Amino acid sequence: MKQFPKFYTKMLYDLIIIGGGPAGAAAGIYSARRKLNTLVIAKSFGGQMARKAVDIENYPGFEKISGLELIQKFEKHLRKNKVDIERDTVGKVKKIKDGFFVSTKSRKQFQAKAVIVASGADPRPLEAIGEKKFIGRGVSYCTACDGPIFADKDVAVVGGGNSGFEAAISLHSYAKKVYILEFNPQIIADGENQKLAEKLGVEVITNAALKEIRGGNFVDSVIYEDRKSKKLITLKVQGVFVEIGSQPATSFVKDLVEFSEKDEIKFDPRNNMTKTPGLFAAGDVTDVKWKQIVIAAGEGTKAALSAYEYIINKS
Ligand SMILES: Cc1cc2nc3c(=O)[nH]c(=O)nc-3n(C[C@H](O)[C@H](O)[C@H](O)COP(=O)(O)OP(=O)(O)OC[C@H]3O[C@@H](n4cnc5c(N)ncnc54)[C@H](O)[C@@H]3O)c2cc1C
Repeated sequence: MKQFPKFYTKMLYDLIIIGGGPAGAAAGIYSARRKLNTLVIAKSFGGQMARKAVDIENYPGFEKISGLELIQKFEKHLRKNKVDIERDTVGKVKKIKDGFFVSTKSRKQFQAKAVIVASGADPRPLEAIGEKKFIGRGVSYCTACDGPIFADKDVAVVGGGNSGFEAAISLHSYAKKVYILEFNPQIIADGENQKLAEKLGVEVITNAALKEIRGGNFVDSVIYEDRKSKKLITLKVQGVFVEIGSQPATSFVKDLVEFSEKDEIKFDPRNNMTKTPGLFAAGDVTDVKWKQIVIAAGEGTKAALSAYEYIINKS
């Protein structure tokens, strides 16, 4: 019987960029313009910006633009350049003598002289009872994607930071009633967001530790502990939107890099190189202090120019 190889190794690239967010897109554009033979592997285009329902008002050149629209512009610009693009999830990056093997979840394997990790961050889960069971059946991590499903329903947003407030404000357009459950006694979201949420009738519950998500086929309630009274309280909601921050997507390079205490990749801020020569990192996946679109794009650019320099010096 014919034996299929474990992985199908496609071809040798100069540079592989992992991620299709602002960091990956900018790195791809710069790499192509330096005439590097480039592959961009992205699970999806857009990253965190695709999850953003409200407008972006701080990306230079655009006074106001939705996250989705901006990322579509990034993707179009990237595709105008000569880069290969694979819509796939990277499972592992392995160091080899002359570079790296990058293998994907669909069992493809690619080889490159250098790699840029621009895989951003995934939403942080609550770890509450029932959370996993109800993903796609009432539990969501993406207001922009799933908000309209909750028309005329009651929903709870977990997390009282800016993301939580922005999610609640956008959900208000669809849902009948929107709650925000915040673990801490104080709200840390911007005053503007708080004012708008109050005006729209969003109900903010502080000191609320979410314990369990319940339902039949679909979510019908959540149980939270009032951290002051220690009482367990049931809130009837059909949707739960989790907005408690994010975790860097780094599992596929864990043996090759050093991590900060927040599990972000540590790198040399001058040239974006990690502790492994030829392996670069950019954007929200790193311990760069500020996490913003314009910064991620700038970091992607720095990483691509540094990778170019590294490849040229090696050859
Ligand atoms: C709700 C919200 C609101 C925000 N508002 C603003 C704002 O108004 N202005 C602003 O400047 N910033 C804002 N940000 C921050 C901004 O979105 C991020 O700083 C920026 O998107 C980071 O870009 P990135 O390319 O580093 O990562 P991401 O945008 O996270 O992109 C990561 C990419 O990597 C891909 N990926 C991940 N893992 C893998 C894998 N294993 N294999 C292949 N591909 C993978 C993803 O599919 C994605 O394409 C906001 C963020 C959120 C969540």
